[in-house]
Parts: sequence; C-alpha cells; structure tokens
Amino acid sequence: MANQHKFETEAIRTQTERSQFLEHSTPLYLTSSFVFEDAEDMRASFAEEKDRDIYSRYGNPNSTEFINKVCKMEGAENGFAFASGMAAVFSTFAALLNSGDHIISSRNIFGSTHSLFDQVFPKWNIDHSYFQIDELDKIDELVTSKTKILYAETPTNPGVDVIDLDVLGKIAKKHNLIFIVDNCFASPYLQQPIKFGADLVIHSGTKLMDGQGRVLAGITVGSAELVDKVYRFSRITGPSLSPFNAWVLSKSLETLSLRVDKHCENALKLADFLEGHPKVNWVKYPFLKSHPQYEIAKRQMKAGGCVVAFEVDGGVAAGRRFFDAIKMLSLSANLGDARSIVTHPASTTHSKLSTKDRMATGITDGMVRVSVGLEHIDDIIADIEQALAS
Ligand SMILES: *Cc1c(COP(=O)(O)O)cnc(C)c1O
Repeated sequence: MANQHKFETEAIRTQTERSQFLEHSTPLYLTSSFVFEDAEDMRASFAEEKDRDIYSRYGNPNSTEFINKVCKMEGAENGFAFASGMAAVFSTFAALLNSGDHIISSRNIFGSTHSLFDQVFPKWNIDHSYFQIDELDKIDELVTSKTKILYAETPTNPGVDVIDLDVLGKIAKKHNLIFIVDNCFASPYLQQPIKFGADLVIHSGTKLMDGQGRVLAGITVGSAELVDKVYRFSRITGPSLSPFNAWVLSKSLETLSLRVDKHCENALKLADFLEGHPKVNWVKYPFLKSHPQYEIAKRQMKAGGCVVAFEVDGGVAAGRRFFDAIKMLSLSANLGDARSIVTHPASTTHSKLSTKDRMATGITDGMVRVSVGLEHIDDIIADIEQALAS
C-alpha cells in the first residue's frame, strides 16, 4: 500500500469511501452481512471475482479502514484484523504452520504467547526453541530442516529489553524463515519492523493503538502472499474483529502520534527520576543511556515507548508494600492506556511461568512495570515517590 502522505496525515486521511450521505467521519457499519444485486452478483462475489464485502467474518468496511491505516503505518501490503492480540498471534502461526514444523522465538515474549508455544502447539506437534536476547549469534545453531518461523517482540514485555531487528532480519533471510515481529510495545509510530526484513508484523490493538483501555483487538500486516494465507485460515475459523471495535480503533489511530509522543516524554521523565532514587535497584527504559541496548534502541526506534521497568529494593515484601501504597496509578493488567498503570509481573501476568523461565527472562520478584500514561508527569512521579517512601 503506497503512502501518499506522511504518517500523521495517513492516520487521519485513510478513510472508507463516503456513503451517499457524504458524512465527514466514517460511520459505524454494524452489519453482519451485505446484500447482492442479483444471482450473478452473488456468484461473482463468492467466487472472489469482485473485491467487495460479503459477510463481516470475512471483512467489513470498518475493519478494512483500520487494516488499511495500519498497513500504511507499517509499510505493509495487506493485513487482517482480529478480536484480540492473541487471536492475531494464534491465527497467524496456525495459518502458516503444519504439524511437525518448528518455531524459533525469543524467550522474552508475552506470557500468553509463551503458553501458546509451551502448552497449545505441542498438541499439534509444533515445536519451538527459545533464544536468549543477548545470544543472537547462537540462533543459527537452533535452525533445523523443520524451522519455518523466526519470532520476536521488541521492546519486550515486561523487561523492556531491545532486540536488534536488523540482525534478526538477516538471520531469517539466510535460512529462508518467515520473520514475524510482535510490534505492540513500540506501536507503528515508533518502529516499523518491515524496514528491517520482517515478513509479518503483529499488534495487540488493545494497547497503544486504542490507547484508552476500551477495546480488545489484534492485527497482522505484511506481505500480501502470507496475509492471504492468514486471511483464508481466519475467514473459516472466525477470530475476526467486530465492526464496532474496528471503528473505535480507526478513530484512535488518528491521534496515535500525539499520544505516543506524550507517553514517551512522560516515560523518559519518570525513568530519569527513578534512576536517581535510593530505594530503586535498577531502572530499564530503552531511551535511558544506561539501558544495555540503548544504541540499538536509538537505531530502530523513534522514542522509547510507554513502559518503564524497575526493581524496588527489598524483594517481594517491599514490592507488595509499594503496590499497597500506590494511590492514583491503577493496579491493572493493561498497558498503553491514558491512565498510568503499575503491575507486578512475577505475581500476575507471568505467574504461569516457572521460576526458572521467569529468571531467564529477567523477571525478578521485586520487578515493577509501569505503563506511563498521559496524566501530568508531576502527579505520576508524586504517586510513585510517596509509595517508594512508605
Ligand atoms: C497484550 C499483548 C498481546 C496480547 O494481546 P491481547 O489483545 O490482550 O490479546 C500480545 N503481545 C504483546 C506484546 C502484548 O502486550
């Protein structure tokens, strides 16, 4: 999908064709199906001789607008929109893999994606190997004749580690693997993995894309050939995004750049504050100079994102006291919301992982993840400061 305008403009001006009412803002097409002129129109539509909507499980003007926008933002050829981020992750893998195939993935991935690889795919004899984010030179050794997909998230959740996309893109090319990136933490505004060789990019639209904690959504965009396989799998199996949620999301994307700029500005200020705090053992934020992959982050991202990770001194007990003392910030599982959120990954989102897997991905008992919102930064810092003091 060729871009006519700059990112911010495409985010606003990519719109479904106007109806006969000449509305300015795209209406909500809350319809399960679409009608045909006559028998021939119906036959030709089902035979895919016409590019038109038939049934909202296959496609709908609202989801098409959302998909077209994300394609322009990511520099992708085509996409498909899902009811949740996990529906996108599952359906994309399931569409591309056969029994016996093998996935190579970063060990640092979203908790449910971990469970998908560890608990669900073995049912269909789909195996995986994990690589450590600081051992990209060992990925070559993990490749077998059955390996089909190379998968990564960057920045990672919840540890905000950064993985070199350029290096991964070259490894995927060398071994002829499909390179898939979950770009949810960065959003298409901060990072476009296709530039670094990704074949497909997945997002949970639930996070920064919606940005106000209202809807669940997911999307996969990338090469037209691969997206077609994902589309064919999904129109049969039915994980499609609802028109209402697509409509909400397409509106949200109009303000993505403004919101994400502010999230990043607030997050960097909070990270700077925490770095000097005596009760904090360490702070991780991609655009802090002390971040181990700061140089890579600068190369592949426009700014550091909305998530800051840090460790409260004193282990689990101190961590619990910190959470109980928080007054304004929300204790919730979401991220990328206008409201700042604090979570304790070890006891919540990543509690299903074994202690060994948690330690291997850097999730210590006292680790806190903050999704920095759009409130005034002074109020965000003040709440965290009083909680650390208690
Ligand atoms: C939240 C999240 C998902 C899953 O998205 P849902 O919309 O909750 O299903 C996948 N990957 C990452 C990195 C996420 O943060």
